[in-house]
Amino acid sequence: MSQKPAPLCTHCGNEIAYSGRGRRPKFCSQSCRQRAYEKRIGARQPIALDNADHAKLGQKRLDRLNDGLYELRCAAEDVELAAQEGADRSEIIELCHEVVAKARAVEKMT
Ligand SMILES: [Zn+2]
Repeated sequence: MSQKPAPLCTHCGNEIAYSGRGRRPKFCSQSCRQRAYEKRIGARQPIALDNADHAKLGQKRLDRLNDGLYELRCAAEDVELAAQEGADRSEIIELCHEVVAKARAVEKMT
């Protein structure tokens, strides 16, 4: 037997049982070979495939969010205006309800 250190599995780092003849194995087991393969495939796909979809989805979501924030600001300004103009309590409470409802709707968009 040679004194060369046993080869280590490329996937899990365990020592690989190796006779010393033939090609040095890269993996300790069939399952490590499979995992390493899946990892390689998995690392490639999201970048090539999903990013474009994620970007599209992100833009739509951002547009909705911006609309929601605009509505929320308008609703908040309504309350401010009503309070400045001395609107009665029930009207201000009504407007507050709208602000809260809008804020909740925007929160759900994130
Ligand atoms: Zn392994």
